[in-house]
Amino acid sequence: MTKRGVSVGVLALQGAFREHVYSIRLCGARAIEIKFPYQLDEVDGLIIPGGESTTIRKLINKYGFRYYLDEFNRSKKPIFGTCAGLILVAKKVLNEDAGLGYIDIEAQRNSYGRQIDSFEEYVKLKFGGEEKFKAIFIRAPKILKAGPDVAILSKINDNIILARQNNILVSTFHPELQKDMRIHEYFLKMIGKSIKREN
Ligand code: GLN
Repeated sequence: MTKRGVSVGVLALQGAFREHVYSIRLCGARAIEIKFPYQLDEVDGLIIPGGESTTIRKLINKYGFRYYLDEFNRSKKPIFGTCAGLILVAKKVLNEDAGLGYIDIEAQRNSYGRQIDSFEEYVKLKFGGEEKFKAIFIRAPKILKAGPDVAILSKINDNIILARQNNILVSTFHPELQKDMRIHEYFLKMIGKSIKREN
């Protein structure tokens, strides 16, 4: 399966969805803004962007997305949650209602405190070569706990910032806000492999 044949949906209810659409197109794949649940049938993978997790959750419920997202996950199609998207797919969220429960992590919202609401750091990735990746954190969450089946793909000190469990990829930062596409390319590879398995 070439990248050109892959379609990626970006949940476009609120937040930084346009930048993900742009990133996926830059990688040479098809990107679709998902505004209605039925559109999920048209895509091979889904990005849940950063933004405000409480707002996105409300809109997921209001527009009847929950059932279709659960089905999407059950069918093992890849889902990438960035920042607020990570909070939404987490199994647990500290002091909040549980997330969608697609990945065995506990997240804490706005976890870096007020003074450093936003910062950038060059980090090492477990894939894609030695060059460091510019990770942009905006009122970022932390992953407080990760289950044994969660693979850690990047860390800052003791904090996991990029992780994967089966079809679910999560980052506490915003990879779509700069030009280095290694994480989007990694997600596209996950999608390519999942399509191969289906056929
Ligand atoms: N602080 C936001 C939340 O808790 C997440 C921030 C982001 O997505 N950049 O939902």
